[in-house]
Amino acid sequence: MARSDRPASTSTSTSTSDAQHVIVAGGGPTGVVAALACAQRGFRVTLLEAAGFIDDNPRAATTHPSTLEYIARLGFVDEFIEKGLVCRYFQFWDRDTQTRVAQFDHELLRDETPFPFAVQTEQHKLVQMVLPKIAAFAGCVHELGTEVLGAEQDAQRVTVTIRRGAETSTLEADYLIAADGGRSTIRKGLGIAFEGFTFPERFTVLTTLHDFERSLGCCYRNYLAGSDEWAMIFKVAGDDMAGRWRAVMPTRESESDEEALADASVLSRMQRLDRSCRLDDVVHRKIYNVHQRIAAQFRVGRIYLAGDASHLNNPIGGLGLNCGIHDAMELVDTLEAARDGADETRLDRYQRRRRTLNAEFIQEQTINNKKRLEEKDPAARQQRLDDLKATEADPVRHKAFLMRSSLLASVQRANTIA
Ligand SMILES: Cc1cc2nc3c(=O)[nH]c(=O)nc-3n(C[C@H](O)[C@H](O)[C@H](O)COP(=O)(O)OP(=O)(O)OC[C@H]3O[C@@H](n4cnc5c(N)ncnc54)[C@H](O)[C@@H]3O)c2cc1C
Repeated sequence: MARSDRPASTSTSTSTSDAQHVIVAGGGPTGVVAALACAQRGFRVTLLEAAGFIDDNPRAATTHPSTLEYIARLGFVDEFIEKGLVCRYFQFWDRDTQTRVAQFDHELLRDETPFPFAVQTEQHKLVQMVLPKIAAFAGCVHELGTEVLGAEQDAQRVTVTIRRGAETSTLEADYLIAADGGRSTIRKGLGIAFEGFTFPERFTVLTTLHDFERSLGCCYRNYLAGSDEWAMIFKVAGDDMAGRWRAVMPTRESESDEEALADASVLSRMQRLDRSCRLDDVVHRKIYNVHQRIAAQFRVGRIYLAGDASHLNNPIGGLGLNCGIHDAMELVDTLEAARDGADETRLDRYQRRRRTLNAEFIQEQTINNKKRLEEKDPAARQQRLDDLKATEADPVRHKAFLMRSSLLASVQRANTIA
């Protein structure tokens, strides 16, 4: 997509209206949702994305009921669902015995949400959908190929240094949202610690046209526990809406990224999942470093961190992007409060809520999800699988499990944090 042809103001604020100005650093899913939400609430928005294109590498797709509710509030949930796959169920499998252990059914959430299902819509489609909606608001622009280099602030404003091509300049705004991802320049510039750890293994993501529904009886979201190797298998629609599957597996300790993505390893990984998989069906290969981290601060004065800039987690459970969108929605409420003259205690609620909820719901669940899938001790492994079975069989526990995995419980918990 081409850079916006509507230039952002430079050096000093040249706003023609009284609207307060928000700069959003980073045009990933968190940044675009934050930008749209701000535009809808009457802020003037400048969204700056360093890359000159929309990254369509395979990352998030699973979007949970709580997040669909937010997307509905932003006004494009039908379009979002249309571009993805509706998933009523998710399943846990035992790879060692090739049997299904448990199936969770979102239908049990029907009394809790208008969206008793998850939707698998790839994150680049979300960005593609939202960018034109931002640009439709007067005074709101997005720029691809503009990098944020740093920010300074005083009591009245934030001054952001940017680079467009070889040219460096500054922009002024009332607030800066740092949605510039896990390596956030803004977080580093503010000297905010990113507490946590990085896993020694990386995660391979192999995209294939092989149909796991037909060959193994998988649903669209499957978590496979294995004493030798765990895996996740998901179906996404793809840009052509023809459907394809993503298989996620860890690298071996001694394996380099190149070795893990070489033909022989890719074929062997796929055939360990299903003997009938063929290399020719693999249409994309990617490898990711995986972290569990939370920023020590989510707010410094007029600068707010959101999404991966403020927290990272492993993708088992599909929670990172969902959490970023929840951040964005809490953040726009916070900026509205700031515009209305709220005091520091109210503004710090953003950090009190979002940091606490990330620890309680995202870090806790994703770490536990990974342990559940990779457990090697036979007794502990069996206990975890039995516990899943028992949870599925008990309607109260089944629903409670779904409330947490869908982050509906996180939204309820937010309201208890003043
Ligand atoms: C394999 C995998 C599967 C996943 N699956 C799921 C899932 O199913 N569900 C889920 O909820 N989450 C999932 N996640 C996590 C999800 O992808 C991330 O949480 C999500 O991308 C975070 O969005 P973000 O906008 O905060 O950050 P990013 O997507 O990283 O976007 C940050 C943007 O900022 C830009 N940027 C960086 N620096 C600058 C700068 N200095 N100036 C301007 N722009 C800058 C970057 O180019 C980028 O576009 C998955 C992750 C992986 C790796």
